Amino acid sequence: MRQLDKLWNYQQADKRVTDYETEIRQFPLRQQLLKLRNIVADQQTVVRGMENDANKALDRLEELGAQREKAEQTFAEIKKSLEEGTFESAAQVHKAVSQMTDAENKLKSAEKELAKMVSHSKMIENRYKEVRMKAAKARDEYTRLKVVYDKEFEKQTAKLEELKKERAAVGSQVEAGYMERYKAIRSQCFPVMAKLKDDQCTGCNMSLPSATAKQLQGSDEITECENCGRILYMSDAE
Ligand SMILES: [Zn+2]
Repeated sequence: MRQLDKLWNYQQADKRVTDYETEIRQFPLRQQLLKLRNIVADQQTVVRGMENDANKALDRLEELGAQREKAEQTFAEIKKSLEEGTFESAAQVHKAVSQMTDAENKLKSAEKELAKMVSHSKMIENRYKEVRMKAAKARDEYTRLKVVYDKEFEKQTAKLEELKKERAAVGSQVEAGYMERYKAIRSQCFPVMAKLKDDQCTGCNMSLPSATAKQLQGSDEITECENCGRILYMSDAE
């Protein structure tokens, strides 16, 4: 058996490994798990954002409470002074009344904002519960599927190891120089070897000089396609 035939067999084994690796990656359950993991992560981000907003709202509530209290106090003080007649001139009374009105407006505005925040907070709270529930559900689903997937993954890994062993066994029959060449091309493209058919490289479909077929027949020399660089191959039967 020529080295090129052994190398061709090696490529078949190599392809079985690569194909199976792709199959593992595209395994539907794995895709589903990745999607769920993204959903959980997204919802965690939303939850964190909502918690942040809630903390800011609490700070604002505190601020508004203090503002309301201060306005109430100012209002009461001026009212008391007016009642006790401590102001001497009409201008002073006028100023006091205007300060009272100002304090009253501030009080009203603080109360209005407070009321708005309270009704808004109920909505936020509901949304928060909803998001947390969805996140918990996605997490549960993830955990459940992960158990199923882990078992499947164990089987897949065992099969992949088996295919890799087969590849290594076939590879051990190939001389080092051929294998080095194969691996160098392998890092650029796959498949590495392409059959020559009707003077065409089946790797890139480029027409090659008709002398190429003659050159390949019975030869164990590496001939690369002048267009794509793949190792051209013809089996002995061809
Ligand atoms: Zn080619």
